[in-house]
Amino acid sequence: MKEVIIATKNEGKVKEFKAILTPRGYDVKSLSDINYTEDIEETGQTFEENAIIKAETISKATGKMVIADDSGLSVDYLGGRPGIFSARYAGEEKNDLANLNKVLKELEGTIKEDRSARFRCALALSVPGQKTKTTEGVVEGYITEAPNGANGFGYDPIFLVKDKDQTMAQLSSEEKNKISHRADALKKLSILLDQEEPK
Ligand code: IMP
Repeated sequence: MKEVIIATKNEGKVKEFKAILTPRGYDVKSLSDINYTEDIEETGQTFEENAIIKAETISKATGKMVIADDSGLSVDYLGGRPGIFSARYAGEEKNDLANLNKVLKELEGTIKEDRSARFRCALALSVPGQKTKTTEGVVEGYITEAPNGANGFGYDPIFLVKDKDQTMAQLSSEEKNKISHRADALKKLSILLDQEEPK
């Protein structure tokens, strides 16, 4: 099996990467699996810059092929926030419930048309000795007035998927993994991954 490290400790993300990459023949490892405990400072101004920082840091530290994900929610009415600050929108403790409640509060009193939003995902693939490559994925939707659904993670319960009458948290993991921003970016990355992989 071909080993690939996912540069994240976010179990929700790891599960989604495993679901998509394991059937394609990859042995997917998370930072917890390789006992990497240090915090990587995300000093970039964009999802893409942060994904590159994480992928290159872990690739240098391990000498292995690494994929990093930087992703988040952009709400139009909030000028694109929480954006790159999605994980810690309501504070450093990275609390999913506090984060989504903060977004709901900020949108109180707005009509559906004002609640348009999108999940965005940047992926970076870093292979030792090669230039880091990146892809991006997007899924469009609306912020609901209250949380709905128990699957997924993060802002999934308040993200109504465009053209579906369900939030991301009401979709099964199989359904989410077909239409999500991460799936979109990963589809594009898979092509590069198959080419880049060391023999
Ligand atoms: P990162 O780990 O710095 O990339 O932060 C990602 C944050 O964006 C997560 O902690 C979530 O709050 C949010 N996020 C990213 N992807 C998703 C998703 O698929 N569903 C819900 N929230 C997400």
